[in-house]
Formats: sequence, structure tokens, C-alpha cells
Amino acid sequence: MSVIYLDNNATTKVDPQVLEAMMPYLTEYYANPSSMHTFGGQLAKAVRTAREQLAALLGADESEIVFTSCGTEGDNAAIRAALLAQPEKRHIITTQVEHPAVLNVCKQLETQGYSVTYLSVNSQGQLDLDELEASLTGNTALVSIMYANNETGTVFPIEQIGLRVKERGALFHVDAVQAVGKLPLNMKTSTVDMLTMSGHKIHAPKGIGALYVRRGVRFRPLLIGGHQERGRRAGTENVPGIVGLGKAAELELLHLEEATKRERQLRDRLEQTLLAKIPDCEVNGDVKNRLPNTTNIGFKYIEGEAILLLLNKHGICASSGSACTSGSLEPSHVLRAMGLPYTTLHGSIRFSLCRYTTDAEIDRVIEVMPEIVERLRALSPFKNDDAGWLQSQSLVNSH
Ligand SMILES: *Cc1c(COP(=O)(O)O)cnc(C)c1O
Repeated sequence: MSVIYLDNNATTKVDPQVLEAMMPYLTEYYANPSSMHTFGGQLAKAVRTAREQLAALLGADESEIVFTSCGTEGDNAAIRAALLAQPEKRHIITTQVEHPAVLNVCKQLETQGYSVTYLSVNSQGQLDLDELEASLTGNTALVSIMYANNETGTVFPIEQIGLRVKERGALFHVDAVQAVGKLPLNMKTSTVDMLTMSGHKIHAPKGIGALYVRRGVRFRPLLIGGHQERGRRAGTENVPGIVGLGKAAELELLHLEEATKRERQLRDRLEQTLLAKIPDCEVNGDVKNRLPNTTNIGFKYIEGEAILLLLNKHGICASSGSACTSGSLEPSHVLRAMGLPYTTLHGSIRFSLCRYTTDAEIDRVIEVMPEIVERLRALSPFKNDDAGWLQSQSLVNSH
């Protein structure tokens, strides 16, 4: 099936060069990299090369890279490690707009005697650094804040946040799953202690990720067993995945500048054309501080799910809310935290591009979207009627 894939913040396709790099490690190179024989040594060497490639993308030292199974594991491991390393501190600061891989860990920690501050965001999805500053105490073990939001693309001022966190002696973890490969990163000059990334968001396969752990940060592993990853993550290495992640990192670094410039142009053309052609819609998020590949647009008086179904008929893949919460008709926790009016909250769609997105694909979306919105609005008894729409929503929600 030929699809127009504009859902790259949910996952990306494996780059053919990544697959090619992985193939030998799914076939003839199958030894255990920890084995003493030369065969095992060849595998250990492949893991080392991948570690160098990923370190180069992050501006990190190779010894600071811990391979994980996914972004979710990285987030879990970082949060647990920070708490285990400072057992006397019982407070965590995060935000209301984090990915569930952070939010749900924090919610569970609340049941285990930790107190958690969930920082609010304004209508652009941006944080208030004064609120952060006021929340930091000597009891704060960890501040965990995402680099860029997966739903709106809003980018947080990570280094400004980090300076404040470091002043109070807390550890600083950043979920950078959406930032890696889209923004230039340099851990050498950063205030970040731990940083999560995931392979399948940067054209490597699913099931591989990494956690950056700054040298000198006390780290306790989540998975306990063998001594792999310098004792920071037990379990025989996923060598094909690691090799793929290394290759993907190399390609991201190679393409970063030109690909993000192109994606930004395509994204802006899509956004501006839709805004011009379709009445009653607006962009959600901080448009001045935003990932180059993401646009989240709220279309008033209609349901995002209905838009997705009609887009799907044209083979166009987009998203409403995050994949993890879709399936329910609950509006996205991110858009809710931004305090969006009810009229837009339910009709918001995210388009997320990648370096494979073409001009023709954007043309196609620009062609079909106005018809889709017009058709759905024609069916909506509440077009241009905020009060009526609001009332219909409260009826739906009361069932
Ligand atoms: C996708 C995503 C994750 C989870 O990564 P997985 O590899 O799918 O577990 C975490 N945080 C953010 C911001 C994401 O976009």
C-alpha cells in the first residue's frame, strides 16, 4: 500500500542503509560480544563502533552511552537511578506535558512516598521558569523535563532550566526522544545529567534506544544481571539493533542541517496553506520554539478522529493526540494542560514530517484537507456555534 506517512513523531521507517548495516548481525555475525573468542570480539567491535557513532551525534563520550531497549526504558532507568543514588531526597519535578513513559512512572512513585511537582504550561505549551525555580528545594532529587514535546513540537529551554536545577544540586534528566536528530545537541557543553533517546524515532528499528549518563553521575541500573554496558544495563546486547542505531545516528548527523531545513520549509508550507484555505483553525504550540518537522493544528467544531478516518481513506497517516492515548476519545493531556478551548481541543491533528517527506505528498494533503474539514463541518450542527458545540461535548462526555 502506498501511504503518505506524516506520523513520524510516532515512529519512522527504517532507513535502507540502516537495514543493510544490520543484516550481517542478523545472519552470520551472531556471537555474544562478551565471549572471549575472536568471533565474539568481532561483535564487540561492532558495538564499539555504534557507540562511537551515537556519541558523535550527542556530543558525548562513548563511555557515557548506555544502550537500552527503547525510550520508555531510558526514561524509567534514569528516574529510578536518580532516586536510588540519592535515597535521602524524596521530591521530583516534572511537567504536565511529558510522555507517559515519564508521567506514569512519576504517578507510581507518588504511591511510594515520593512527592511530585507537575509544572504547568501556558497556552503556547511553554513552561514558566519562575514556577520551576519556586518548586526546587534541597529535597529535590530529580528534575525530568522533555526536550521537545511529541504532540506539539514545542521545545523547552533545556539549558536555562538546567542552570537552575544545578544551582539546587538536583539531577537533571531530559527525555530527548523527539529532539535527537532534529536539533543539534552537544552534551559536552550541556547541563543535562541524563538524556533519553530512542532508535525508532530516528529511522532505526523498534526495540533499541540509549541513555546518555554523564560521567561522574552516580548510576544504579534498572536491569540487574550480567556486567554488560559497564554494569549499567544487564542483558546480552541487541547487537543488530545497536549496529542499526549507530548507523542511524551517523545518518542523522550527516543529514541534520539540510534535512531539518527542508522539513521546516515543507512543514511551514503545509501549515500556512491550510491556515489560509481553512477557516476557524489555529496552530497549537510555541511556533517560535518548535521542532522543524511538527505541526499541530486545531480545527474547530469537528472531531480529530473523524478527520483522521477521512485522511486515512486517502492513504494519509497523521495523528490526534499521542498514539499512546489515542483509541480513547479523551483529548490529549498535552493540549488540555495548555488550556485549549473545548472547540479546538477535540479537533486537533498532528502532522510530523521526516527527511523522506516529498513536495508532492504535502501538495496532496493541502489538496484534500479543506474538503475533509468542509465535509465534516457540514455534518456538524454546531459550526460557528461555540456554545452549542460545548453543550454537545458535555452530553457526549456524560455518557
Ligand atoms: C516515543 C517517545 C517515547 C517512548 O519511546 P519508545 O522507544 O517508543 O519507548 C518517550 N518520549 C517521547 C517524547 C516520545 O516521543
